[in-house]
Amino acid sequence: MKVCKFGGTSMANSACIKRVADIVLSDKTIGYVVVSAPGKREKNDTKVTDLLYACLDKVRYGANPSDAFWPIRERFENIVRELGIDLDLTEDYEEIVSALKNGTTKDFIASRGEYFSAKILAKYIGWTFIDAKDLVRFDEKGNFLSGETNAYARGRLLNVKNIVIPGFYGSTSTGEIKTFSRGGSDITGAIVARATYSTMYENWTDVDGFMKCDPRLVENPEIMDVITYKELRELSYMGANVLHPDSIFPVRKHDIPIHIRNTFNPSAKGTLIVPTKKLFSGVYERADSVVTGIAGKRDFIAINIEKSMMNNELGFMRKVLEVIERNGLCVEHIPSGIDTLSVIIDSNDQNEERIDHIVESVREICHPDVIEIDRNLALIAVVGHGMLRKKGTATKVCSALAQANINIRMLVQGSSELNVIVGVENKDYESAIIALYKEFLD
Ligand code: ASP
Repeated sequence: MKVCKFGGTSMANSACIKRVADIVLSDKTIGYVVVSAPGKREKNDTKVTDLLYACLDKVRYGANPSDAFWPIRERFENIVRELGIDLDLTEDYEEIVSALKNGTTKDFIASRGEYFSAKILAKYIGWTFIDAKDLVRFDEKGNFLSGETNAYARGRLLNVKNIVIPGFYGSTSTGEIKTFSRGGSDITGAIVARATYSTMYENWTDVDGFMKCDPRLVENPEIMDVITYKELRELSYMGANVLHPDSIFPVRKHDIPIHIRNTFNPSAKGTLIVPTKKLFSGVYERADSVVTGIAGKRDFIAINIEKSMMNNELGFMRKVLEVIERNGLCVEHIPSGIDTLSVIIDSNDQNEERIDHIVESVREICHPDVIEIDRNLALIAVVGHGMLRKKGTATKVCSALAQANINIRMLVQGSSELNVIVGVENKDYESAIIALYKEFLD
């Protein structure tokens, strides 16, 4: 049995939903469908999820709840009308308006896009709607509870099929709605695949597959045929955003492959994401190359610390890391020398605020000779299982960047040899990606 997840563009309007219905009804092996909220209908359109967040903000700033919700209601009413289904969602719309009046949560409002999407598709194709709040469990703080979710979802789904489920959200034990981070319907699809022991998780989107490099930086990069979970995780964590990076965790429990497919071009081969190359050796070897893909992100923060005899000071690194942990930040990388240590942190607004505090605490506790902040770092990951067997990948990375006149600020290669990560200045980010693409993938 297969699980299919359809993303926002696949659910954007009635014409798209008809395509989805054709895909689902023409394949008898599909047992479960997970959907996103309607996405953009054209380039400058707004996703329903963003409309919902904006609606809540407007109400919090004093707008009338029914007026603020009206454009969203209208969008769903149009879809229902155009599909010609007999589905009255008035009670649900009214529930949202009264929730808005009574100061509802952000997560509840954000989740309603997926809720309506799933109700509409279920009605259109004559399948059963099962609410994600009865399948996916979170704790009160919004942390996803994997084991409990699997038990619940398995109990509800295992002996039934032809089910449509909203993605992106679940609930706490007291029934409060909580969402995943943005793009989280991908995770719901993976949860359903795991719970139902599905043999395949098809993730339908609006591109032909996972590209070897960011198409905004490199013209027409090739699509990857096959990629492993680990490679995908590295690439999507570093910014390649076809699939939510956390979608891997549920499916890897049962080695379920994920197939990225295009709703608007169903005959395209897509990208197959497999647990290990061994399990799929026939398919994988054909597509194997040293580097599978390249991805990166700008705006990392490096905390550069220098202290003479640092290497002899027992517990120095631990003390630094404890300060960062106490401030609630995750460490991305820790490149170090004999007397130097850099801690790389992902920057977002929240992190920025805590950096000054971290610097002060490290000064007090560790007495470094120098401590500096560099807010200008871009990281690029060159990823591929193939480099395990091949000599000289790191050398090629360095020489390609040197030839493009780019200074390498940091270089990390884990012993797993799945990737080489380089740090360059933000201003060199684009040219570095282009140089590496030419070296390995062109
Ligand atoms: N609708 C949510 C978002 O826009 C979740 C999803 O589409 O996966 O992020």
